Amino acid sequence: MSATLAWMPSRATKRGDERTPLEGSRDVLICGASFAGLMVARELAGSGADVLVVDRYEIGERQTSACGIPTEWLRVLGLEASERQRFDELVIHTPHGTSTYPLPWSFSTFDYPELCRLLWAGCDAEFETAKVNGRARSPNGDGAIHVDTDRGVISSQLVVDALGWRRILANGDGYQPPEAPLSRGLEVHPGGAGEAMEIWIDRRYVPAGYGWSFPADDELRIGVGSFDPRFHVRDTTELLASDLGRDRVRYQGNWIPHKLRAATEGGVFFVGDSAGHCLPLTAEGIRTALYFGIALGRELRAVLDGGQSRADASARYAGFSDDHRWKFRWMLRAQRLVPRVPPRLLAPLVRLLSARRLVKWAFGHYLGIAPPEFAHAPPAATPQRMAEVAS
Ligand SMILES: Cc1cc2nc3c(=O)[nH]c(=O)nc-3n(C[C@H](O)[C@H](O)[C@H](O)COP(=O)(O)OP(=O)(O)OC[C@H]3O[C@@H](n4cnc5c(N)ncnc54)[C@H](O)[C@@H]3O)c2cc1C
Repeated sequence: MSATLAWMPSRATKRGDERTPLEGSRDVLICGASFAGLMVARELAGSGADVLVVDRYEIGERQTSACGIPTEWLRVLGLEASERQRFDELVIHTPHGTSTYPLPWSFSTFDYPELCRLLWAGCDAEFETAKVNGRARSPNGDGAIHVDTDRGVISSQLVVDALGWRRILANGDGYQPPEAPLSRGLEVHPGGAGEAMEIWIDRRYVPAGYGWSFPADDELRIGVGSFDPRFHVRDTTELLASDLGRDRVRYQGNWIPHKLRAATEGGVFFVGDSAGHCLPLTAEGIRTALYFGIALGRELRAVLDGGQSRADASARYAGFSDDHRWKFRWMLRAQRLVPRVPPRLLAPLVRLLSARRLVKWAFGHYLGIAPPEFAHAPPAATPQRMAEVAS
């Protein structure tokens, strides 16, 4: 497996005097510098536009997940150097037995700072650390969106919210856990090695959800995710770690959306967790953040090239996101169904579903929700290009 290039941000998040005022107008303002935000920025590289990316932390400073992804997505994006470990099988434990699923495509864990560094290396945007507070009132009617940060107000015609589930640049619809459709996840990152990517569907750890252990070369990412936001996962994350004889150290957790939200609102573009792009049932949100990030980047690029207006981009991107709604709905149905299966039926069911042809079919469709080939696809046809083709 590829060695991890130990990369840490060159400086910690700016403090005190270093936080000089940050104001003015940019062609594009991308808020959030994790998977979704960096992917949008990378799609805009070479456009000649003045693109500013802001995040409250330095790029790659705070890991936001267990960092598991289909290997092919790392390959198509040229991010293989961040890979830590690769898996051709998935081991599923239930209280009454264990099944091993041979995967038709492999899954990898990666190093978060290194992946962010590689994504950023492909961007030509500017980056600043700043905490986004919300939208500021627009002083004039130029249609620009004004964003209030702890370093000043920045304005742009094209603003992206890639800030995660809080969706800070929306109007505020009272979307708060535990009432909102959010799962909760927590993991520990003890040192140590492991061979298998493992999942536990076991009410001992969580009534509705699953536990996991994802080895990543010299560390393990052991956690529990609950589809029910009212169930606290700290105790059972610790229980799983101690059942595996591992240290309970380096905690990382967050709310995880499991329902799509509007991809555009009030002129702002939302992508990744802020648009609910994380898949229900599996809580896989990195691949989809990259996928929708590419789609959004292509639409914004067409605006910068003069091929379409912001309103065109907004309609097309919202339509693209909505086209996936039925797939997300199916995943959500499965998420609701699994906890209802009586525990004694779970083991035979999991065994039954591990038939090679069925696994191939199911995992093929699952990968197809956000397929790696999308990264190769040509830029989306703009209204101008469509007109050229038609004439
Ligand atoms: C415990 C856990 C494990 C997970 N494991 C996996 C996994 O293995 N594979 C997988 O595919 N998915 C996993 N997920 C889901 C995945 O982490 C998310 O779906 C994914 O991170 C979404 O990417 P994003 O770029 O939209 O948002 P995030 O990765 O959440 O990034 C949001 C960015 O916005 C910044 N930000 C937030 N608020 C502000 C603010 N006010 N001002 C400035 N910046 C701000 C943050 O610093 C961050 O950089 C996991 C989630 C959890 C909680």
